[in-house]
Amino acid sequence: MTDPKDDGCIFCKIVAGQVPCFKLLEDDKTIAFMDINPVNPGHALAVAKGHWPTVDVIPPDVIAAVAQTAQKVAKAVVAELKPNGVNLLQANGAGAGQTVPHLHIHIMPRRAGDQVALNWEPKPGDMKEIEAVYKKLKAAL
Ligand code: 5GP
Ligand code: ZN
Repeated sequence: MTDPKDDGCIFCKIVAGQVPCFKLLEDDKTIAFMDINPVNPGHALAVAKGHWPTVDVIPPDVIAAVAQTAQKVAKAVVAELKPNGVNLLQANGAGAGQTVPHLHIHIMPRRAGDQVALNWEPKPGDMKEIEAVYKKLKAAL
Protein backbone atom coordinates (compact mmCIF):
# COMPACT_ATOMS: atom_id res chain seq x y z
CA MET A 1 0.00 0.00 0.00
CA THR A 2 1.36 3.48 -0.83
CA ASP A 3 1.36 6.05 1.95
CA PRO A 4 -1.55 8.50 2.05
CA LYS A 5 -0.75 12.10 0.98
CA ASP A 6 -2.57 15.40 1.42
CA ASP A 7 -1.75 18.14 -1.10
CA GLY A 8 -2.62 20.90 1.37
CA CYS A 9 -0.47 19.53 4.21
CA ILE A 10 2.74 21.37 5.09
CA PHE A 11 4.43 18.21 6.40
CA CYS A 12 3.54 16.26 3.22
CA LYS A 13 5.18 19.10 1.30
CA ILE A 14 8.30 18.87 3.49
CA VAL A 15 8.40 15.06 3.05
CA ALA A 16 8.11 15.55 -0.75
CA GLY A 17 10.94 18.13 -0.73
CA GLN A 18 8.59 20.89 -1.95
CA VAL A 19 9.16 22.98 1.20
CA PRO A 20 12.64 23.25 2.74
CA CYS A 21 13.51 22.11 6.25
CA PHE A 22 16.57 21.59 8.43
CA LYS A 23 16.52 17.80 7.98
CA LEU A 24 18.12 15.78 10.77
CA LEU A 25 17.31 12.21 9.73
CA GLU A 26 15.36 10.27 7.15
CA ASP A 27 14.48 6.60 6.71
CA ASP A 28 11.84 4.72 4.72
CA LYS A 29 8.97 5.58 7.08
CA THR A 30 10.04 8.78 8.86
CA ILE A 31 11.78 12.11 8.66
CA ALA A 32 13.03 14.41 11.42
CA PHE A 33 13.63 18.14 11.15
CA MET A 34 13.92 21.29 13.24
CA ASP A 35 10.70 23.02 14.35
CA ILE A 36 10.54 26.59 13.00
CA ASN A 37 8.79 27.85 16.17
CA PRO A 38 11.06 26.30 18.81
CA VAL A 39 9.99 26.40 22.46
CA ASN A 40 13.72 26.15 23.24
CA PRO A 41 16.82 25.80 21.02
CA GLY A 42 16.91 22.23 19.66
CA HIS A 43 13.14 21.72 19.41
CA ALA A 44 12.71 19.15 16.63
CA LEU A 45 9.98 16.98 15.13
CA ALA A 46 9.93 13.27 14.24
CA VAL A 47 7.35 12.88 11.49
CA ALA A 48 5.71 9.97 9.65
CA LYS A 49 6.30 10.14 5.90
CA GLY A 50 2.68 9.23 5.11
CA HIS A 51 -0.24 11.52 5.89
CA TRP A 52 -1.89 9.87 8.87
CA PRO A 53 -3.35 12.60 11.09
CA THR A 54 -3.53 10.95 14.51
CA VAL A 55 -2.53 8.04 16.76
CA ASP A 56 -5.84 6.19 16.29
CA VAL A 57 -5.42 5.82 12.50
CA ILE A 58 -1.68 5.43 11.91
CA PRO A 59 -0.42 1.85 11.34
CA PRO A 60 1.41 0.42 14.37
CA ASP A 61 4.67 -0.14 12.49
CA VAL A 62 4.75 3.49 11.34
CA ILE A 63 4.15 4.99 14.80
CA ALA A 64 6.82 2.62 16.12
CA ALA A 65 9.23 3.98 13.50
CA VAL A 66 8.34 7.58 14.42
CA ALA A 67 9.04 6.77 18.08
CA GLN A 68 12.43 5.28 17.17
CA THR A 69 13.32 8.38 15.16
CA ALA A 70 12.23 10.58 18.09
CA GLN A 71 14.49 8.56 20.38
CA LYS A 72 17.50 9.03 18.06
CA VAL A 73 16.93 12.79 17.95
CA ALA A 74 16.37 12.95 21.73
CA LYS A 75 19.68 11.14 22.31
CA ALA A 76 21.50 13.70 20.15
CA VAL A 77 19.71 16.55 21.97
CA VAL A 78 20.76 15.13 25.35
CA ALA A 79 24.36 14.47 24.26
CA GLU A 80 24.97 17.73 22.38
CA LEU A 81 22.76 20.34 24.05
CA LYS A 82 22.78 18.97 27.61
CA PRO A 83 19.33 20.29 28.54
CA ASN A 84 17.86 19.95 32.04
CA GLY A 85 15.29 17.56 30.56
CA VAL A 86 13.48 16.59 27.35
CA ASN A 87 9.74 16.27 26.72
CA LEU A 88 8.41 14.09 23.92
CA LEU A 89 4.95 15.37 23.00
CA GLN A 90 2.46 14.05 20.45
CA ALA A 91 -0.84 15.91 20.04
CA ASN A 92 -4.00 14.41 18.48
CA GLY A 93 -6.79 16.73 17.40
CA ALA A 94 -7.33 20.46 17.83
CA GLY A 95 -8.60 19.86 21.37
CA ALA A 96 -5.15 18.52 22.25
CA GLY A 97 -3.42 21.49 20.61
CA GLN A 98 -2.57 19.78 17.32
CA THR A 99 -2.07 22.40 14.61
CA VAL A 100 -0.63 20.18 11.84
CA PRO A 101 -2.85 17.10 11.32
CA HIS A 102 0.01 14.87 10.17
CA LEU A 103 1.36 12.64 12.92
CA HIS A 104 4.54 13.85 14.58
CA ILE A 105 6.35 13.68 17.90
CA HIS A 106 7.90 16.85 19.31
CA ILE A 107 11.36 16.54 20.84
CA MET A 108 11.51 19.49 23.24
CA PRO A 109 14.64 20.26 25.21
CA ARG A 110 13.77 21.83 28.57
CA ARG A 111 15.65 24.43 30.57
CA ALA A 112 15.13 25.38 34.20
CA GLY A 113 12.61 28.20 34.42
CA ASP A 114 11.77 28.13 30.70
CA GLN A 115 8.03 28.61 31.41
CA VAL A 116 7.04 26.09 28.70
CA ALA A 117 3.43 25.32 29.63
CA LEU A 118 3.46 21.51 29.71
CA ASN A 119 3.82 20.59 33.34
CA TRP A 120 1.01 20.33 35.86
CA GLU A 121 0.58 19.79 39.57
CA PRO A 122 -0.83 16.31 40.32
CA LYS A 123 -4.13 16.40 42.23
CA PRO A 124 -5.65 13.18 43.66
CA GLY A 125 -8.50 11.79 41.52
CA ASP A 126 -11.87 10.38 42.55
CA MET A 127 -11.33 6.59 42.80
CA LYS A 128 -14.95 5.82 41.81
CA GLU A 129 -14.57 7.92 38.64
CA ILE A 130 -11.15 6.41 37.86
CA GLU A 131 -12.62 2.92 38.25
CA ALA A 132 -15.69 3.68 36.10
CA VAL A 133 -13.54 4.98 33.23
CA TYR A 134 -11.06 2.14 33.73
CA LYS A 135 -13.86 -0.41 33.25
CA LYS A 136 -14.93 1.18 29.96
CA LEU A 137 -11.37 1.25 28.61
CA LYS A 138 -10.54 -2.25 29.82
CA ALA A 139 -13.62 -3.58 28.01
CA ALA A 140 -12.48 -1.81 24.82
CA LEU A 141 -9.00 -3.38 24.87
P1 5GP B 1 1.37 20.55 16.61
O1 5GP B 1 0.79 21.88 17.04
O2 5GP B 1 0.56 19.98 15.47
O3 5GP B 1 1.59 19.58 17.73
O4 5GP B 1 2.83 20.89 16.08
C1 5GP B 1 3.08 21.38 14.80
C2 5GP B 1 4.47 21.97 14.82
O5 5GP B 1 4.88 22.16 13.48
C3 5GP B 1 4.55 23.34 15.50
O6 5GP B 1 5.46 23.29 16.59
C4 5GP B 1 5.03 24.26 14.41
O7 5GP B 1 5.97 25.20 14.85
C5 5GP B 1 5.66 23.31 13.40
N1 5GP B 1 5.58 23.78 12.03
C6 5GP B 1 4.48 24.29 11.41
N2 5GP B 1 4.78 24.61 10.13
C7 5GP B 1 6.09 24.29 9.95
C8 5GP B 1 6.97 24.39 8.84
O8 5GP B 1 6.64 24.85 7.75
N3 5GP B 1 8.24 23.93 9.02
C9 5GP B 1 8.67 23.42 10.22
N4 5GP B 1 9.94 23.02 10.28
N5 5GP B 1 7.87 23.32 11.29
C10 5GP B 1 6.60 23.75 11.16
ZN1 ZN C 1 0.54 15.40 5.58
